[in-house]
Amino acid sequence: MERTELLAAQKLFGVPEEFFEEANAMVKESEWILILAMGPDPVPEKELEKKVLEAGLAWSAPDFIRECYHRAVINKVPREEGMYWQINSFYGRFPYFAQYERYEYGKFPKEVKEALNRWDFEVYLGIYGDDVRMKMQGIDTHVHNSDYLTLEEAFAFVDRHADECGFQPCNCKAMMYYHDRPVDVCLIFETGPNSEMDRGHGTHVTAEEAKKRLLQANRKGLMQNGEDYAICNCDGYCCYPLQMARACGSRGIYPKSHYSIVWDEEKCIQCGKCTKICNFGAFSRGEDRKVGFDPEKCWGCTICSANCPVQAITLVPETKGQS
Ligand code: SF4
Ligand code: SF4
Ligand code: SF4
Repeated sequence: MERTELLAAQKLFGVPEEFFEEANAMVKESEWILILAMGPDPVPEKELEKKVLEAGLAWSAPDFIRECYHRAVINKVPREEGMYWQINSFYGRFPYFAQYERYEYGKFPKEVKEALNRWDFEVYLGIYGDDVRMKMQGIDTHVHNSDYLTLEEAFAFVDRHADECGFQPCNCKAMMYYHDRPVDVCLIFETGPNSEMDRGHGTHVTAEEAKKRLLQANRKGLMQNGEDYAICNCDGYCCYPLQMARACGSRGIYPKSHYSIVWDEEKCIQCGKCTKICNFGAFSRGEDRKVGFDPEKCWGCTICSANCPVQAITLVPETKGQS
C-alpha cells in the first residue's frame, strides 16, 4: 500500500496524527485497503463483498467482512432494505484492541498507553460530558453507568435478563492497563448489532453464574452500576465514567447514588475492611490507626455496607428529589 493511500485511510478512520504508528498495529494493511475502498458512507453488503473481491483482499468476502466486524474495524448499519456496512473509527477500534489483543497492546511503551488514554478520555468527555452536566442541572438525560446498584438490585437486573447474560473484558481496565484489578468483569445483556456479543466476543453465562461473579466483584471492591443493557463492576482508578464524573464534579448525581451511608461507630470492630474496599478513601484509618468515616468523600456506591462483617454500615434510601 502506498504511503499516501495509508495516510488517506488513517484520516478516514479518524486516527490522530500522534498515533499513526500505533494505528498500524491495530489495523491490518488489508483492513486499511478496505477502509479506503469503503469511504465514509454506509455500503450495501453485496457492494462491499464486490469491493473485497475486486481488491483481492480475501477468497471469501463474507468471511473477511465478518473478521473485520469481529475486530471492530467496521460496523453494521441495519436498514429495511438489508444490511449495510460502515467503517468504524480509531476511537471505536482502540478499546477492542486493548480488550482482545492484550498481548499486542502490552508491547506499547507506558507513555504511549498513557497518551492514548488521555486522548481517548478527552474524546469520551466531549461525547458524554454535556449530558452529565445537564443531569447536574436536574435535566433528565441518559448516560450509561447511570446508577449505583446494591447487590440485590444488580441481582434483580440479572433475573430480568436471565437468558441474556454475558461477560466480557472491561474496556476501561483493559485500556488503562497498569493496575491489578480483575479485567473480565463487564456483565452485558445486549446482543444487538455492534454489541461485543454480536461481534463474537464475550462468554454467555447462566444467571446463577452472573450473580456469583457480581458477588466476587463486590468482594474485591468493585462497584456495581448500570442499567438494563449492562452492569459494570467499576473501580475508582480505571473507570472512564468515574473519571468523567470527577471532571464534572457530579458526585451523588452521576453515577446516581440512591443511598446515604450511616456508620455505627459503636458496632464497628475496627477490622479495616471498609478502608480497603472503598475506592474514594471515605473510610480510612487515622494517625491513631482508628477507622473513621468522611461522608464528604462518599459516592454512595454501597459496597462497604455489603462487606462489613458486623453490619456497622447501613444504607438509608435517599428520599425523592435529593441528589
Ligand atoms: S464503566 Fe466500569 S466496568 Fe464498565 S467498562 Fe468502564 S470500568 Fe469497566
Ligand atoms: S468493615 Fe465494618 S467493622 Fe470493619 S472497620 Fe469498617 S465499619 Fe468497622
Ligand atoms: S464509603 Fe461511600 S463510596 Fe466508600 S464504599 Fe462506602 S458507599 Fe462506597
